[in-house]
Amino acid sequence: MSDCIFCKIVAGDIPSKKLYEDDRVLAFYDIEPKTPVHFLVITKDHIKGALEISEENSRLVAHIFEVIAKLAAELELGAFRVVTNNGPDAGQTVFHLHFHVLSGGVLGEMA
Ligand code: 5GP
Ligand code: ZN
Repeated sequence: MSDCIFCKIVAGDIPSKKLYEDDRVLAFYDIEPKTPVHFLVITKDHIKGALEISEENSRLVAHIFEVIAKLAAELELGAFRVVTNNGPDAGQTVFHLHFHVLSGGVLGEMA
């Protein structure tokens, strides 16, 4: 999508601090970290959000969690939280499917 920030990051039109990339997903550090370690794992395809996950594309989500596990081990995160905001009232500001990985210090209860 031409006006989507994350599509522009995937295309390389907006720079990002990349952690991992393959043909399906990209991981990069959040520009406004909410915890000492805060990165995002996104699909390369434009999927609007969690409501668009279906039988046709759910393998991508499994792959994202494989990538999260690999990065968490490499970065020796230990404790971490994975968050997907869906919809503006849940805090979604970028409408391209992404998973926040938050780590560092004590995160406190949220759910
Ligand atoms: P959401 O609010 O949709 O759950 O998460 C979007 C996240 O993307 C926010 O944490 C925000 O800081 C991050 N973000 C927005 N624009 C950019 C950008 O241009 N580069 C990077 N690295 N992160 C961004
Ligand atoms: Zn997009």
